[in-house]
Amino acid sequence: HHERISILGLGAMGRALAGALLDSGREVTVWNRIAGKADELVARGAREASSVAGAIGAGDLAVVCLLDDASVRETLAPALRELAGGTLVNLTSGSARQARELAGWLGGHGVRFLAGGIMAVPPTVGTDGAFILYSGARDLFDRLAPVLAPIGRSHWVGEDPGFAALYDMAALSGMYGMGAGADHAVALVHAEGGDVETFRREVLQPWMEQMLPITVAGADGRETVPDEFNPAMQATGLENILSASGEAGVPTDLAGHLNASLWRMRRAVAAR
Ligand code: NDP
Repeated sequence: HHERISILGLGAMGRALAGALLDSGREVTVWNRIAGKADELVARGAREASSVAGAIGAGDLAVVCLLDDASVRETLAPALRELAGGTLVNLTSGSARQARELAGWLGGHGVRFLAGGIMAVPPTVGTDGAFILYSGARDLFDRLAPVLAPIGRSHWVGEDPGFAALYDMAALSGMYGMGAGADHAVALVHAEGGDVETFRREVLQPWMEQMLPITVAGADGRETVPDEFNPAMQATGLENILSASGEAGVPTDLAGHLNASLWRMRRAVAAR
């Protein structure tokens, strides 16, 4: 895995990616739009390029991790000539459509392109839990997976370059739903004078751990609810949580996930 890697973008995530690759002995060149973000990485052995073209020229593989799709386009447009014939992995978050269009644009300029989605946060990059979704040509993935392994387990999700972004975004939706639920739970306990720390540790965490696999396995994205989850009973239970939340004075905008679940149960009852 002697490919030289260029990292474009030294935000919190770009710095974490560069750090993990340096730690594993990879040859890393870094670039960032605003200067001054590379000092710590340079001290750890990275080279700093003063231009995008220079960074691309210094590597066999360019890894891009910028704010959004627009910043990727803006950064790469002036360097298409240096990119031609080379390989680029985009780890910037975006939509499936943006990834497909980026693949078309770069492919049209002779760039071999792999789309990615980082399933990690900067402190977990390079740890056991971290994994990276990739989509695009399978042979390119097979070549790059070992090169990029130090940032997290490489997981290919299909030839369609949009799929890494699609699965990434969908997984984030699940995470935010979990977070909203946990926030509402803690707000309820706090509003009624409960001990938040104890509740978190002794009740919420073990309860969510017990239910997480069941919740994920049961989710089908449709209006149906299996009989063993009795939607009529659940609708009554959800109405009780929502009215208890109102009694405790917890803002209703924290309870969107409960309303969404209540309407789903009511539709399932009506469909019987
Ligand atoms: P930061 O806000 O820390 O960094 C943003 C980076 O984008 C900086 O390097 C910034 O450069 C650069 N940038 C923004 N606009 C432009 C532009 N127009 N031209 C060139 N460079 C630009 O974000 P993160 O590093 O945390 O995130 C980067 C990507 O990684 C995002 O797409 C994010 O969704 C994804 N990601 C982040 C995770 C996280 O937990 N942080 C988790 C999973 C994915 P400058 O310093 O010059 O402003």
